Amino acid sequence: MRYVIIGSGVAGYSAVEAIRAMDSAGEIVMVSADANGYYSRPGLAYYLTGELRDKALYPWQQNDYKKLNFSFLKGRVTCILRVEHALEIDGKPRLNYDKLLVATGASALPLDVPGSKFEGVVKLDHFADAKNILNLAKSGRTAAVVGGGITALELAEGLLARGMKVHYLLRGDRYWSNVLDERESKTVQGRLQAEGVELHFYSEVSEIIGKKNRVAAVRLKNGQTLKCDLLAYAVGIRPRLELVQDIGLNLDRGILVDEHLHTNDPDIFAAGDVAQVFDPLSGRAVLDSLWNPAREQGQVAGMNMAGRKAAYLKSPPFNVTRLAGLTTTIIGVVGHGHDEDVIGIARGDSETWRDLPDAIMAQSGFDVNHLRLVIGEESLLGAVVMGDQTLSFPLEKMIAGRADISPIREKLMTPDAPLADLIADFWVTWRTQALL
Ligand SMILES: Cc1cc2nc3c(=O)[nH]c(=O)nc-3n(C[C@H](O)[C@H](O)[C@H](O)COP(=O)(O)OP(=O)(O)OC[C@H]3O[C@@H](n4cnc5c(N)ncnc54)[C@H](O)[C@@H]3O)c2cc1C
Repeated sequence: MRYVIIGSGVAGYSAVEAIRAMDSAGEIVMVSADANGYYSRPGLAYYLTGELRDKALYPWQQNDYKKLNFSFLKGRVTCILRVEHALEIDGKPRLNYDKLLVATGASALPLDVPGSKFEGVVKLDHFADAKNILNLAKSGRTAAVVGGGITALELAEGLLARGMKVHYLLRGDRYWSNVLDERESKTVQGRLQAEGVELHFYSEVSEIIGKKNRVAAVRLKNGQTLKCDLLAYAVGIRPRLELVQDIGLNLDRGILVDEHLHTNDPDIFAAGDVAQVFDPLSGRAVLDSLWNPAREQGQVAGMNMAGRKAAYLKSPPFNVTRLAGLTTTIIGVVGHGHDEDVIGIARGDSETWRDLPDAIMAQSGFDVNHLRLVIGEESLLGAVVMGDQTLSFPLEKMIAGRADISPIREKLMTPDAPLADLIADFWVTWRTQALL
């Protein structure tokens, strides 16, 4: 049996681990176009700020790879030949497979304005992008950052940490409006301003102006022109579907897979950012662009490739991130609608966050320690925890476990309720009952 995995991200490596745990004899081949192999993509933000050195981004040591006994082929898969069960790599035939996993991830959407090909127009998809940004930041003085979501903010903070003057351009009236509420956006914005980032609302780029093929300024639709030596953008991402476009797999925005990570071809699976996974609980197929779901999906796909019938049960999306220096955890369903600054889905984002809940919001706290709860009929649907993270873990467990909050629901909804205390007390009782 030969298992072939396309992609060396977390989904691909989790699949290799799961296959090897179940089949010690089968041949496993991973093919990847990324010369940097397996590294933490969320960690790139901390690499940009200088808080992490490049070595710290690699989750595995040489020994971890050895133990899995698989081969690694560096190259770009250019064609999947389904009938022949074979791949073309860099245009050359061929690597045969018995079971195939497509774990090709997602890539940044381009900034579709005149001048976007000038040197100094950058995105943050890969390690190579981060290195390029650091290189350019050395000689630059002023940067403009475009886009909403986590990655745009990480770019702004990374460039600031490298000593650049940063203009942050937002199309709408506030930061990350489809996930954060107004007060949360304002908290983040206030902190960015205090760090020295200049925010520009209702600011949309109409053109990038170049000099000797390098970025020199950015022109906005309102007529304003800002001088800059670097323009960084993060306006959304798109599952990488080029390889599967015309081969008869069922596609929507990603590769459609069932809860076993199976495509409509019995020998082809997909996992991670490229997969649009059926969620039996909501009955919908959704995109997540989060590290943990990619890891779990890779595991389940690997198990199924090796012959086990395992199902991926989507847990409420959970992301711990840092927004303008403020540790923020986002769990379950918290936002609504769409964000003008992000087309579709952003890095570190889940479509589930934006499901419109039939729910009530309760908030407490102030700028630095803040708690927002999304309260359903009987259970908590989501939460945003900013600052003090004591309650993140209990909230994750209670949201995932659909804890029946009826005993405290009314209290949670009274104005100025001490939400944190109510949740902390409830957690103690619920944890015992749920045997956690
Ligand atoms: C800057 C940044 C910040 C992020 N922040 C967060 C965060 O805060 N929280 C969070 O949960 N997630 C975050 N994410 C998202 C998270 O990193 C991804 O969800 C996760 O890495 C997806 O893993 P994957 O294995 O599906 O894809 P990827 O890691 O993208 O791997 C895809 C692999 O496929 C290879 N490939 C693609 N096409 C081909 C081909 N034709 N032939 C051969 N190889 C190919 C690529 O080279 C790559 O190795 C962030 C990502 C980035 C970039």
